[in-house]
Amino acid sequence: MPERSTPRTLAGRTAVVTGASSGIGAATAEHLAGLGARVVVIARRVERLTDVVERVEKNGGTAVAIAADVTDATAVHAAADRVEAELGAADLLFNNAGIMLPAPVEEIRTGQWQQQIDLNITGLMNAIGAFTPQLVRAAQERGVADLINTSSIAAQNIFPTFAVYSATKAYVTHLSRHLRAELGAKNVRVAAVEPGIVATELQSHVTDTGALEWLAGSKQTMEWLSADDVAETVGFIASQPARVNLQQVTIMPTGQAS
Ligand code: NDP
Repeated sequence: MPERSTPRTLAGRTAVVTGASSGIGAATAEHLAGLGARVVVIARRVERLTDVVERVEKNGGTAVAIAADVTDATAVHAAADRVEAELGAADLLFNNAGIMLPAPVEEIRTGQWQQQIDLNITGLMNAIGAFTPQLVRAAQERGVADLINTSSIAAQNIFPTFAVYSATKAYVTHLSRHLRAELGAKNVRVAAVEPGIVATELQSHVTDTGALEWLAGSKQTMEWLSADDVAETVGFIASQPARVNLQQVTIMPTGQAS
């Protein structure tokens, strides 16, 4: 049996979490801090980020808040420069900010299409562009780094009226597959996490009546995941020995078949 070469803790690591002001991102930032990582929390709502930092510090952890819109490449690069200057190269990026705005395609809601593409694809790429050099350097120096992208079960399955959202998440999963081919050899593990329904603020942005009814119905018939469930999954991925990459992890409510 090979020995487990890496301690199962994130002490000494620097984790950047986007979309960290609520839901999965906030829970994951707190969980990673609990595992010993210094965390950098990025989103637009400063007061919510401050709450996350306070909760992390109250539990003995270290957190830094950076207010930034990830669709703004300049702002994300400035955030990356600040991380490097204050904490050294980040060795974990949880690339998680996202929005879900379902609607029948025939309603031609081009504004909502663009919003999802701008955040779920361009925002994701902005963070990858800004932090990949740090991840590669950190992996060279410390043996391993993690790029963990939040995808969705929507990347795999068919959900009528969720076409644009699902396509952005298929992008995330397929991109992750490809980045593994480039970055794996450099000890940067690339993973895609694909959750089913998680109780967060994500559903509060939905305006489409049909989708709202479907969501309300599903809440009656099954217990949704909590953000903490996904946070623990991300912590588990990042805590593996350097040789182990959980490339693609689907986490579903037990009652959600697909
Ligand atoms: P939330 O709405 O609670 O979180 C979304 C986060 O993204 C918030 O912190 C928000 O902060 C941030 N965000 C939104 N726009 C921007 C922006 N322009 N720049 C920076 N940050 C931004 O939802 P979840 O926690 O559920 O969503 C997290 C991820 O999980 C998303 O990628 C989502 O698609 C994915 N997901 C969610 C599922 C679910 O059922 N909840 C299922 C599968 C995947 P702020 O507004 O302060 O900027």
